[in-house]
Amino acid sequence: MKCVFCKAETREQEVEYKEYGISLGTFPGFVCTKCGEVFFEGEVVDKIQQKSKEKGLFGLSRKVKVGKIGDSLMVRIPKEIANFVKLKEGKEVRITPEAKKIIIEN
Ligand SMILES: [Zn+2]
Repeated sequence: MKCVFCKAETREQEVEYKEYGISLGTFPGFVCTKCGEVFFEGEVVDKIQQKSKEKGLFGLSRKVKVGKIGDSLMVRIPKEIANFVKLKEGKEVRITPEAKKIIIEN
């Protein structure tokens, strides 16, 4: 298998797959010897998706609309994401900008 990005050779090896910083285990993948990109075959992708569902991580990321309260903007945090990071009403969090992201630390 060749890398779809830089066309270099890939090497077959076990690769740890993380979703939202949580390891789903290691899976047989192909790692590009030049750019390091990792590829998985269809049945492995299905296995990874299954693991993700088992851990309640699948589809956790989602789009939300930015609202406005006074001069501030607001974003609703979906219940599933709040539960995942154990965020509760009234809890103090730190909000930090980072390039094109906003990080909310619990
Ligand atoms: Zn590559």
